[in-house]
Amino acid sequence: MGLDDIKARIAKAEKSAGRHVGDVQLIAVSKVQPLDRVVSVLEAGHRLFGENKVQEAQGKWPDLKDRFGGVSVHLLGPLQTNKAKAAVELFDTIHSLDREKLARKLADLAQARGSSPDLFVQVNTGEEPQKAGVLPAETEAFVASCRAMDLPLAGLMCIPPAEEEPSLHFALLRKLSENVGLTGLSMGMSGDFETAVALGATHVRVGSAIFGERTYG
Ligand SMILES: *Cc1c(COP(=O)(O)O)cnc(C)c1O
Repeated sequence: MGLDDIKARIAKAEKSAGRHVGDVQLIAVSKVQPLDRVVSVLEAGHRLFGENKVQEAQGKWPDLKDRFGGVSVHLLGPLQTNKAKAAVELFDTIHSLDREKLARKLADLAQARGSSPDLFVQVNTGEEPQKAGVLPAETEAFVASCRAMDLPLAGLMCIPPAEEEPSLHFALLRKLSENVGLTGLSMGMSGDFETAVALGATHVRVGSAIFGERTYG
């Protein structure tokens, strides 16, 4: 299992960047992974996980949360408005707030429930047409509108284009977060989490490097 190795590499990256060891939260991305791999990471004491789909997470986490105390699950993938209610019931944090209509829905749910998951605004730093996220130039206005709805914003999130140097995107996300006064930075995956830590990530999302390759059946 790659958990200890990834934790050690994060600690090393924190040290080289002059950051406190333990500052960065490791989200173990368990989407599509066989249950026994997820259970072994839970048994190793890890409690923070990420999923991409509401329905897949619903089938897995209520039971695992009962078996293992203190588990947090974060939603990383796109959220349809009609799944928002199920999402706020299951997830502690949502990293994919990317549009006004979803913000309004989450604000309505927060009002009705008296609580809301923490939210990261997803930014499409590569301005890729097929990718979710607000554009860099729209980020400030979108954050302001979320704040006007009293949504609990934790920070910004990005998924850099696969073929580009991720550090440029991480640096851009950090600059945007400073502009809007948010401290959370959800960035870095299996291939680039050390770069993300060096550039200020507060949450790295690591899947295959912990669990092994995902096999889609
Ligand atoms: C799948 C996924 C990850 C983890 O990817 P790995 O390359 O397996 O580390 C991180 N973030 C998001 C949004 C994902 O969908």
